[in-house]
Amino acid sequence: MNNQLNRRTFLTQVSAAAVATGLLSFPFISGAKSLKEQKKLGIALVGLGYYSTGLLMPALEKTDHVKLVGLVTGTPEKAKKYGDQYAIPKTNIYNYQNFDDIANNPAIDVVYIVLPNSMHKEYVIRAAKAGKHVICEKPMALNAAECREMIAACKKAGVSLSIGYRLQYEPYTQRIMQMAKEKPYGEISMVHASAGFRMNRPTDHWKVKSLYGGGAIMDMGPYPLQAARYSTGLEPIAVTAQQFNSDPKVFDGVDETTSFQLEFPGNIVANCLTTFGASVNFLNINAQKGEYGLNPFSGYGGLHGYLPKGEKFDFPEMNQQARQMDEMCLSIMEKRPSKTPGEEGLRDMIIIDAMRESVRKGGIRILL
Ligand code: NAD
Repeated sequence: MNNQLNRRTFLTQVSAAAVATGLLSFPFISGAKSLKEQKKLGIALVGLGYYSTGLLMPALEKTDHVKLVGLVTGTPEKAKKYGDQYAIPKTNIYNYQNFDDIANNPAIDVVYIVLPNSMHKEYVIRAAKAGKHVICEKPMALNAAECREMIAACKKAGVSLSIGYRLQYEPYTQRIMQMAKEKPYGEISMVHASAGFRMNRPTDHWKVKSLYGGGAIMDMGPYPLQAARYSTGLEPIAVTAQQFNSDPKVFDGVDETTSFQLEFPGNIVANCLTTFGASVNFLNINAQKGEYGLNPFSGYGGLHGYLPKGEKFDFPEMNQQARQMDEMCLSIMEKRPSKTPGEEGLRDMIIIDAMRESVRKGGIRILL
């Protein structure tokens, strides 16, 4: 493999070290000092679709360090419905035209972008310019170039940027991350991770592909990709990808299935898949002294862990989104770096960009 490395075209110039630098500094807007004294930060949700209304709003009824105080929506009926349901003052409800006025609203400390992927960049940058700390849903943006612009804008504005990688805040995933460090079963040699479901949406759903920038690769793809990275605790040095489409009329111009293989330092290989064609969800880690993992690994609940020799591990059910938002907001109040900063989203997008290039041109792509 190393001999091959010298012959390959270098796809990206971003080194892990350069990305990691972003984790070390955490500038804050002036006046942020007072946040430490606040018990709960005020958050505004931007985009009131499936994830905002079905998962984040209910979670915000369970949080200790953040409360729902604002809404941003282009639909007056949604503003009325959710404004009434969550007792949001009318002065804290914005649309996409007057969104920038949020800068003058001291009740809103954090803005959570839950829009189609193609809108993440614009609204993260507008939120940063308004002086608000930002949480942005995964995938962070359409490509790595957009991610870099978003990181730069937040740094310039002195605000925090976190990506909504909820699993990194829940205990099963944290145990897998811990095992990557402690290696209780010896060196890891191989990871298998797959995440997908049968997409039953109407056929014209994917005609709006420009809003999401892809099919399975942009929707569920970040889960096996993240899993391969956090279960090894390493950054991949190369990626190869293939895409499959069983019905181009349904998946019009987007991938139904993306299969990808990642090579990590130390000859560790991850074989990953994401799909809208099958219900699949598992993470399996093969180490010298046996296999362990999670099955399923990326749901909102119902996760289960297993260890070599048939042992199992489980944790009490908890609200992942509540825990994620609490931890993110606590880190803002305590002026600590986010566990899942913009740089973490950028790392994934660099790899996803490389996957797309591998699909287009064929062959392996090097990641440095
Ligand atoms: P959705 O389509 O249900 O919601 C998107 C919202 O954006 C809608 O309310 C829509 O009205 C609004 N919107 C505003 N301007 C729009 C425009 N110009 N075109 C289209 N919609 C517009 O999508 P969703 O499933 O809630 O996903 C939103 C984001 O959340 C995506 O980035 C997705 O990847 C992410 N997500 C994350 C998780 C997770 O587990 N972390 C789960 C689901 C979705």
